[in-house]
Amino acid sequence: MVKPSPTAPPYLREVADGVHAYLQPDGGWCLNNAGYLVSDGQSVLIDTAATEARALALKQAIAPLSAQPPRFVVNTHSHGDHTFGNFVFADHAVVVAHERTRSEMESLGLHLTTLWPNVCWGELSVELPTLTYRDRASLHIGDTSAELIPLGPAHTFVDTVVWLPEQRVLFAGDLLMSGATPFCLMGSISGSLEAVGQLRALDPETIVAGHGPLAGPELLDTAERYFRWLQSLAAEGAAAGLTPLQTAREADLGEWAELLDSERLVPNLHRAYAEAQGAFPGQQLDIEKMFSDMVAYHGRVPECHA
Ligand SMILES: [Zn+2]
Repeated sequence: MVKPSPTAPPYLREVADGVHAYLQPDGGWCLNNAGYLVSDGQSVLIDTAATEARALALKQAIAPLSAQPPRFVVNTHSHGDHTFGNFVFADHAVVVAHERTRSEMESLGLHLTTLWPNVCWGELSVELPTLTYRDRASLHIGDTSAELIPLGPAHTFVDTVVWLPEQRVLFAGDLLMSGATPFCLMGSISGSLEAVGQLRALDPETIVAGHGPLAGPELLDTAERYFRWLQSLAAEGAAAGLTPLQTAREADLGEWAELLDSERLVPNLHRAYAEAQGAFPGQQLDIEKMFSDMVAYHGRVPECHA
């Protein structure tokens, strides 16, 4: 069943010469952003989309921008909303990711689809990266240089950001969320703070977050403020003998109530509690428990409009 989406259609924005952001409103669950770099007849796609239909729509949207389909697809991280659409491009493109992202993709498979069985996912197949890197990599697309920088654990164990030093455009993947709540189910709160510091050092002018509208460097301040608030909320909750779920239920969300998907507070608190008790960044936690507590807090499984 294809259910009508209450969200606006995706759209492209050229943020610098030949540098395009593909934005999928409203940026909530599984409505991720992508990027498309075109220079001198060559092109690179940064991330794909969650469903077959959305990946095909992305392919159609970028087709007029370049005579050739993308030569590379970069996956910023392993999550299905950013990677399930790889197969739509893999005939022509080499899929590139950090080696850890590839192994996470392999073990996650299509698990995400089981969380939202009512979404029309289409005929998906997992297309794993065929080119992996470890420390850092550079792509040279015509006149454009794109640096692939691994950071984390933060959102996942390793996330790749794509940084264009000349244009000062940062494709941050889900390390940064714009108008949506950060999400550290698989990553780290302290690691996210560290990653924000490393992104700040790049001095970006334009930020394409993994979800939500285009942003500037102020998004780094917002993210840092959220993670610090989260750490102090976790410390207060733990001191009061509350579980992460109880702490979330008693919390005054303040400015964070305006962000999409604020229920991510619950898994984020689980992560902050664990780290305060000595868990290392990215340590495997009980993901089912974190997710079911989130559903309990929200009152139901959150809506996914993919
Ligand atoms: Zn993600």
